[in-house]
Amino acid sequence: MKFAVALLASAALASLVPAAAAARPDAQRDTVDTTVPTQLPRTAIPHHYTLTVTPHAQHLTFDGKVAIDLEVVQATNQLTLNAADLRFASATLRPAKGGTPLTARVAVDADAQTATFTFPRSIAPGAYRLELAYSGKINTQANGLFALDYKNKEGKDARSLFTQFEAADARRFIPSWDEPDYKASFDLTTRVPAGEMAVSNMPASGTRNLPGGLKEVRFRTTPTMSSYLLFFATGDFERITKQAGGREVGIVMSRGNAAKGQTALDAEAQILPYYNDYFGTPFPLPKLDNVAGPGQSMFFGAMENWGAIFTFERILLNDPSITTESERQAIFSVEAHEMAHQWFGDLVTMAWWDDLWLNEGFASWMENRTTEHFHPDWGADVDHVASREAAMSLDSFTTTHPIVQQVRTVEQANQAFDTITYQKGESVIAMLEGFAGPDTWRQGIQSYMRRHAYQNTRTPDLWAAVEGAGAKGLTAIANDFTSQPGVPLITVGPVQCVAGRIVTNLTQTEFSSDRREQAAASPLTWHVPVRATAGGEATQVITQGRSTPLSVAGCGPLLINPGQTGYFRTLYAAPQAEAIRAAFPKLSAVDQYGTMANAMAMSRGGYQPMAWALDLDAAVAPTAHGKVVARAVGDWSSLYDSLEGDAASRSAIAARISRTFGPRLQAIGLAPRAGESPVDAQLRPTLIAELGGIGDAAVTGEANRLFAAWLKDRNAIPGSLKSAWLGVVARNATAAQWDALHAAAKLTQGSVERTTLYELLGGSKDEALARRALDLAITSEPGKTTSAGIITAIAHQHPALALEFVLSHLGQVDPLVDLSGRSRFVAGLVSGSSDLTLIPRLEGYGEKTFSAENRKPIAQAVARIRWRAASRERIRSETAAWLKAHPLG
Ligand SMILES: [Zn+2]
Repeated sequence: MKFAVALLASAALASLVPAAAAARPDAQRDTVDTTVPTQLPRTAIPHHYTLTVTPHAQHLTFDGKVAIDLEVVQATNQLTLNAADLRFASATLRPAKGGTPLTARVAVDADAQTATFTFPRSIAPGAYRLELAYSGKINTQANGLFALDYKNKEGKDARSLFTQFEAADARRFIPSWDEPDYKASFDLTTRVPAGEMAVSNMPASGTRNLPGGLKEVRFRTTPTMSSYLLFFATGDFERITKQAGGREVGIVMSRGNAAKGQTALDAEAQILPYYNDYFGTPFPLPKLDNVAGPGQSMFFGAMENWGAIFTFERILLNDPSITTESERQAIFSVEAHEMAHQWFGDLVTMAWWDDLWLNEGFASWMENRTTEHFHPDWGADVDHVASREAAMSLDSFTTTHPIVQQVRTVEQANQAFDTITYQKGESVIAMLEGFAGPDTWRQGIQSYMRRHAYQNTRTPDLWAAVEGAGAKGLTAIANDFTSQPGVPLITVGPVQCVAGRIVTNLTQTEFSSDRREQAAASPLTWHVPVRATAGGEATQVITQGRSTPLSVAGCGPLLINPGQTGYFRTLYAAPQAEAIRAAFPKLSAVDQYGTMANAMAMSRGGYQPMAWALDLDAAVAPTAHGKVVARAVGDWSSLYDSLEGDAASRSAIAARISRTFGPRLQAIGLAPRAGESPVDAQLRPTLIAELGGIGDAAVTGEANRLFAAWLKDRNAIPGSLKSAWLGVVARNATAAQWDALHAAAKLTQGSVERTTLYELLGGSKDEALARRALDLAITSEPGKTTSAGIITAIAHQHPALALEFVLSHLGQVDPLVDLSGRSRFVAGLVSGSSDLTLIPRLEGYGEKTFSAENRKPIAQAVARIRWRAASRERIRSETAAWLKAHPLG
C-alpha cells in the first residue's frame, strides 16, 4: 500500500527523506489490499506519525503524544488501531482541510491489543489527523520500550533504554496500525537526560536544552516503512563511525567500550558496499548504526530496525576478556544477517507474517553467503549444511509446518520465528540459487528490489522476479518446497555400470521421524533437484513423480547430493553405503559432514542400521577438518548421554573420544596460538567441553588447575577459552568449586562475562547443585535478563527437575522471560528428553496457558520426547552391539 493524499507533514517529508524514499512509487493509489490478513478493520490508512516520547527511566514509565495523519477510506464513527499496555489521556480527530475537531471516547481491548476511538458522529472518507496523548510502561524484558541495567565504567549502576518491536510490540510504544503492510513515515522527537545519547533510525535533525537537566532530540523523518522497524534508544553511550558505501556506518555502545566495537564497525564498513552492489539499490538511509545492549533475550539476538540495528553485546562487542572464537565470528555473520534485512525486510517487506520466511530465510542465506565470501577460512560452507540438518530434524515430525504458513494470532507470529522459517528457508534458497545459477538469481533479486521498494510482497512475487530473470521452471520447485511441509526421501535403486556410467533409478518418497509407515504409504511429492557424482562430471535431475532414472558419468562410488545444496535425505543400498564409507577420507569437508549427518538421521530414524552411521563416525580421522571432527565428537557424546546406565558402552565411547580426539586437542594446543586457523580456534573449546563432559582425565585436570589459578588471577585463562574451561569445572563441580564460581560471578562487572559465569552455575551434573542454581535463578541477584539462561542451562542436564521447578514457580519465572519467547521457553526445557512422564505436565501447562492455536512449541516438544522414547532402546542396543564388535585396538 502506498498513498498519495496531501498530508499535513508532506512538505517536511519531501525535504527530509533521502531522495529514493521521497519518490514514493505508486503514489496515486490510496487503496487497501483486502486480501492481506489483518486484525484491524480496514477503515483507515495511516501515512505519517509525528511522535514525542518522554521516558521516565527510574519509574519505568513514559509519556507519549502522537499525531497520526491518516486517510479514512470508509465512512465510520470509529477508528480501531493497535495499542497494548497504554493509557490514553485524550483523543482528538481533526479534518486535514480544517473544520471542527472531534473528541473521541476510548475503549481499550487488552486481549485484542487494540484501542477503539468512538466519535460523536460519522466521519466521511478523507484526510484527517488523529492526536493522542497517552502513557505506557518501560518493560524489563525486550518487548516495546525496555530497560537494560548494567554496571558502568566506574562500577556504578546504570540503565539504558531500547526498543524491540518485531513482531507486534510497536503497539506498546506508539498507538498505531501495527501490521507490516501499513507502511508509514515517522517523525520521532524525544526528551531525555541532557547527558545521554539518543539514537533512532534517522540522524538527529536538532537538539535543544530543556529545563530540569533534559534535552529534546528531534530525528529526521524516516522513509515509509513498517511500524515494527521503528527504533529508539537512549543511554550513557558512545558512538564510533566510518564512511562506507557512500553512507556513515556506526557502532553505538555504553561509554568506555569503544575499543570493543571496532571489530563490528570494520565488518559493517566491509559489508555495506558489497550489499549496495549485490542488491543493485544503494542503502537508502543516510546512516546505519548498530546499537549494543547489555543483557540478553530468550527470543532474539539482534534486530534489523532500519538504519539502527540492535544487537546484544555478546554478539556485537569483541571483548578480549570473554569473547569466544565462535562469538567473534558471529559479530560478522549476525551483522551480515541484519544488514541483509535493510533491503530484504526493511526496504521490501512481507505483506503479512505468513511470508515471514521472505525476510528470515533470505537474510540467513545472505549471512552465510557473505561470511563465506569475506572469510573463506571460517568453514561457513560446512555451517550451511549444519543449518539444513537442524531444519530437516524439525521438519521430519508431524508437528512441522510449511515455510509459508498461516499466521492468525500475535503468538503465532512470534512462534513463526523458528528453524523452519530461518534454516529451511535458507536451505531452500540455496537450492534454488543453485538451480537458477548465481547470476540469474541475483538479477532476479535486483529486479525484485527495484519493483517492490517501499512496498510489501508475497512469496510468488519473488519467484516471478527470478523466473523473469531467466530461471525457467523455478516456480514449480519453489512452490513444492515452500507450500508443503516435510523432507523428501530419495532412495537409490540397484546400481549398474554401463559404458563408463552409473545407471540407476531414484525413488522419491518422504522422510519422517514419527510416522514412517504412513509417509512411505502416501508420501508428498516434490520436484527435487538431485545432483549426483560417480567420479566423473556431476549430473542433476529433477524428480518427476515417484520414479526418476539417473545416469552419471564414472563408475566410482555414487554420491548423491555432492556439495550438499539439496534439501532431502538419501537412502542407499548396502553396497553403495559401503562404497561411500571406503571413499569417505577423500570427500570434501562439506560432503563428509553432510554424509555423516544424513547417515545418522537415517539410522536414528530406523531406515537403516545404526552401524552404517557409526561406521562413518569411526572413519573420521583425528586430523580431519575441524567442523567434521566437532560433528563426530558431538555424535559420540550424544550417544554417550543416551547410554546412561550401560557402563561398558559408555566407557567404550569415552575411550574412543579420548583416544581419537584427545591427540587433536594436544596438536592444536590448549591455548590460542597466533596465526592459527579460525576453524581450529573454534574446535578447541568444543574439544575441551566434550572431553571434559566425558570426564577425560587430562582435560578435567587442566580445568581444575586453571580454575584455581583464575580464582587468584582473572587473567590466568585466555578470554576466548574462559567459558570452555570454567564450563568443564562447573559441569563436574564439587560444592566448594560451585561456591567459588558463584562468588566470582557476583564480583564480575562486565555484563557478558557476568552472564556467562551465572549461566555456568546452571551446568552442574550434580542434582543438589542444580537445585541451588534454580533457587539462585529466581532471586534478583543474577539480573533480569540472565535468570532464564541459567534455568535453560540446568535443563540440559536435569530436564525433569527444571520443568518441575518452573511450573511450581511460574509467578516468579514468567517476568524473567520476554513475552515473545514465553511459549517456547518451557517447551524448550524438555524437548531433548526421552522421559514420557514429562508429557502430561507439559501438556497441562500448555492447556492452562495458551489457547489451542498457540500451542505449537508444546506439541513439537511432545513429539520429540515420544520419538526419543520410542527409538531409545533400538539405538542403545544397536550402538552397544557395534561398540562390542569394534573394540579399540
Ligand atoms: Zn533476521
